[in-house]
Amino acid sequence: MNCTKTAQSTLKNASFLIKVIRYCVYYDTMLLGAHVSTAGGVHYAPENGVNLGCTAIQIFAKNQRQWTAKPLSPEEVKLYLDNLAKTDIKSVVSHDSYLINMASPDAAMRSKSTAAFVDEIERAKLLKLDGIVFHPGSHMGEGDAKGIATISKSLDEAIEKSGGKKGPMLLIETTAGQGTNLGSRFEHIRDIIASVKEPSRFGVCVDTCHLFGAGYSLADSESYKSSFAEFDKIIGLDRIKCFHINDSKQPLSSHKDRHDNIGSGLIGNDAFKMLMNDPRFENVPKILETPGGDEAYMKDLKLLRSFVKK
Ligand SMILES: [Zn+2]
Ligand SMILES: [Zn+2]
Repeated sequence: MNCTKTAQSTLKNASFLIKVIRYCVYYDTMLLGAHVSTAGGVHYAPENGVNLGCTAIQIFAKNQRQWTAKPLSPEEVKLYLDNLAKTDIKSVVSHDSYLINMASPDAAMRSKSTAAFVDEIERAKLLKLDGIVFHPGSHMGEGDAKGIATISKSLDEAIEKSGGKKGPMLLIETTAGQGTNLGSRFEHIRDIIASVKEPSRFGVCVDTCHLFGAGYSLADSESYKSSFAEFDKIIGLDRIKCFHINDSKQPLSSHKDRHDNIGSGLIGNDAFKMLMNDPRFENVPKILETPGGDEAYMKDLKLLRSFVKK
């Protein structure tokens, strides 16, 4: 009898210990952070991330509101890589320029966009980034199917011009579906990946605010389960290589893209609690793009960390 009790208590202690170790390991290796500033040069990004306590960051590899930018100098690249090596930041992605529309039916716009995307890839290669998050683009009234065919063609060209099979992951971001924006339905993303010549180069960045705007709720356990089940069925969860963790100022299915701070918006904390503890996404970088600057980021990051179950 005593022996059984001792064995039971040893087992209980062991499982508790395993839980503690798993929590510590996860907490230490959790890839969590924010989109950080590169004002003054890309080499400032690692320090900006460290000041917020990030283990993952997103940057703009060039000014996101201008078509052209001077190339990254070898000195700047070295400084960035040296600075990054001194930190605990384990994952860095860039976000492409807001001007790019590789789905445009206008030939000049499409070619300008594709060239700008090639430049984004070249910069990401120099900085040894894990991926480039990009919006699929807008079909401008041509319809989903035509838009998807155009963007796939542009992506093939961009990959060919930037060295083919090898290079940073190209992460298609889920969008809220404003105007004629593609990427608000999982089917759009599936069809883009199915149409490109190098599907292995592609992953998905799931933006929680955009997902909500597009009509995929995560707000309660039932919708959380069904939204990800649908994603899995249509695209496959293994394609998710990045999360943008944002609450939303706009309601479900609004097709509007207005980020809010964690717990302040209409998605609510339950979604983020589930996401922070979902073992399927344990090793996927989670990056904030919430408003309010560094102080608000720190508050949001603290809240997200507090959601991780001990
Ligand atoms: Zn984005
Ligand atoms: Zn985003």
